[in-house]
Amino acid sequence: MTTIDPRQYIAPAGLLENRVILVTGAGAGIGRAAASTFAGHGASVILCGRTTAKLEQVYDEIVAAGGARPAIAPLCLETATEPDYRKLGESVLAEFGRIDGLLHNAGLLGERTSIANYSATSWNRVLQVNLTAGFLLTKALLPALRESPSASVLFTSSGVGRRGRAYWGAYAVSKFGVEGLSQVLAAELEQTSNIRVNCINPGATRTAMRAAAYPAEDPLALKTPAQIMPAYLYLMGPDSEGLTGASVDAQ
Ligand code: NDP
Repeated sequence: MTTIDPRQYIAPAGLLENRVILVTGAGAGIGRAAASTFAGHGASVILCGRTTAKLEQVYDEIVAAGGARPAIAPLCLETATEPDYRKLGESVLAEFGRIDGLLHNAGLLGERTSIANYSATSWNRVLQVNLTAGFLLTKALLPALRESPSASVLFTSSGVGRRGRAYWGAYAVSKFGVEGLSQVLAAELEQTSNIRVNCINPGATRTAMRAAAYPAEDPLALKTPAQIMPAYLYLMGPDSEGLTGASVDAQ
């Protein structure tokens, strides 16, 4: 058996044909690239995010490139309540009958300061958006995921979600939580469903969040979101069937 390096994966055209995939934070950065890339490989994409104008831009790009007409699901992961998530799960089932992919990508950096100085308000916001929202959204979409013959749930982690570093505060803690949530869910679903659950660590990537975290860095030295898509395609498509509970590096 040959093992595939997700970073070097070459996706066949039409890899995601007939798949329905929801991406959070689809209006900017890595999420935007993922939504366009999935659509470019045949998926029907549900663009989820908090800024509708950005989602509409991505919608237009996908349609202009000849992709299947996406759906737009405006949702603020900081303020949404469980009934909002339930409504989204029900409308996905009503409109598509199932969901084959779920990319938890939206994220908040929060403060870059010591635990001693970290504000409780910022702590709660970061944990809500980066961790709790992923739990609530997955829970609400489980009935639709169960209808898929082969579903992939992908959580977005980070290097600081595997090894804590000074001044990364709630962001690092939330990413440790994401790794844990992914492992627990993977173990629960492995024997009882067709749903696999993994984490991806994008690595340093040229986005607004990275620039905020490392203001003195030259962004041109970093990979663009489009350049890290091979691993995302691998994990969303059928070639990663059987892989669950893993944490994968995109670069
Ligand atoms: P960006 O800041 O460029 O994009 C973040 C996305 O999350 C935006 O679409 C943003 O929406 C959305 N978002 C933020 N808050 C909310 C909210 N309350 N409700 C809904 N959506 C929200 O970040 P990246 O693209 O860099 O990051 C994507 C993921 O990758 C994150 O999980 C991040 O932690 C992770 N990551 C990134 C790395 C990097 O080097 N870039 C490295 C390691 C991990 P809006 O545009 O409307 O604000």
